[in-house]
Amino acid sequence: MEYSEIMVRYGELSTKGKNRRIFINQLAKNVRHSLHDFPEVKIHADRDRMHLILNGVEYKDIKARLLPIFGIQNFSPALQIEKDLSSLKKAVQEQMREIYQEGQTFKINTRRSDHKYAYDTNQLNQILGDAVLECLPTIKVQMKNPDIKVLVEIRQESAYISCETINGAGGLPVGSSGKGMLMLSGGIDSPVAGYLSMKRGVEIEAVHFASPPYTSEKALLKAMDLTVKLTPYVGKIQFIEVPFTEIQEEIKQKVPSGYLMTVTRRMMMRITDILRKQRRGLAIINGESLGQVASQTLPSMVAINDVTVTPVIRPVVSMDKLEIIDIANAIDTFNLSIQPYEDCCTIFAPPQPKTKPKLEKVREYEKYLQVDELIVRAVAGIKITEIKTGQSYLNSAVAEFEDFL
Ligand code: ATP
Ligand code: MG
Repeated sequence: MEYSEIMVRYGELSTKGKNRRIFINQLAKNVRHSLHDFPEVKIHADRDRMHLILNGVEYKDIKARLLPIFGIQNFSPALQIEKDLSSLKKAVQEQMREIYQEGQTFKINTRRSDHKYAYDTNQLNQILGDAVLECLPTIKVQMKNPDIKVLVEIRQESAYISCETINGAGGLPVGSSGKGMLMLSGGIDSPVAGYLSMKRGVEIEAVHFASPPYTSEKALLKAMDLTVKLTPYVGKIQFIEVPFTEIQEEIKQKVPSGYLMTVTRRMMMRITDILRKQRRGLAIINGESLGQVASQTLPSMVAINDVTVTPVIRPVVSMDKLEIIDIANAIDTFNLSIQPYEDCCTIFAPPQPKTKPKLEKVREYEKYLQVDELIVRAVAGIKITEIKTGQSYLNSAVAEFEDFL
């Protein structure tokens, strides 16, 4: 079936009053971005819906791109047809014959923006319903929750019919809530936190702290691949690698072991906050989950959060590990996250970090470090990579290595 357009329904954003235009424009921009290699597809975004005019492009190719885009409640492929009754009947019959499965129920739902049309919506529902019954004698009409809802729209220029409604990703268009810096380790939690914040409209940049040679090249590539997994929702994400070796060595040398973790996290938080400011972000996002490990008790969060007044969004803070893993599986990051490449925190983790670090003590111990100088050097050494959908870092590195052998 060659569909002529896709009708996209906005869902939640239509309730946002005067911000609505901003949301719709952002969604249109994101859709355009995601369809960058289909220039034939034209996008018209009006108040109630977005219409994607396919101009001969295959519906299924576009469908795959629309599924992960936040801000789309659902969408329907539609067929453009002549407005005369016989064309309408014929088209409805053809579509129904194609999709009907024995035992299913249906309903015709007509909308009319051309109010001068010869038939009103009730009449059309009746006439087209009869046409379906004529060609599929075993099918039954059902008004409430039918299996197939045939949407018929009579507009000025032509009529449109559509029999399928596909659920979209929901949420808000990425970017409509501003930008946040995602602290991305190689673990299970932070990619999920990134995904959930994008779902609420936050555009993210990934900040990853690497401590070579204590952490391997593979740990870095793994974090980049995790970023790749987060790109289908936006197209591309900036990945910022921060050199963290010097800071970790200094901390290890000068701070009592019970406070290593707290001071390390505070340094990460400070650096992320500077990058946020430089790059015009509004928030910091991390994968902390309450009670999961020593660094994630409330007293610990107090001690870490002490270095900034920037909002720190913790999307998984109150989730159980199994709930987080469910999402990690759904967004296909879990198997990558459990690959055993150590990130910097596992390597420098003290045997017994304080679960109730005291703020005065943390501040006191930090005086042993040249905090400002260390941070300036780390920020000066960042490396930014633009990460796009479909790229692969770990695998291509392994392939290169095998070629070398
Ligand atoms: P994750 O599964 O995200 O690694 P975790 O349960 O292992 O989290 P921690 O290691 O305590 O928790 O880290 C808490 C949070 O600190 C992480 O979710 C992440 O946001 C941030 N973080 C930790 N290590 C790094 C790193 N090397 N680079 C960037 N952010 C990090
Ligand atoms: Mg971790």
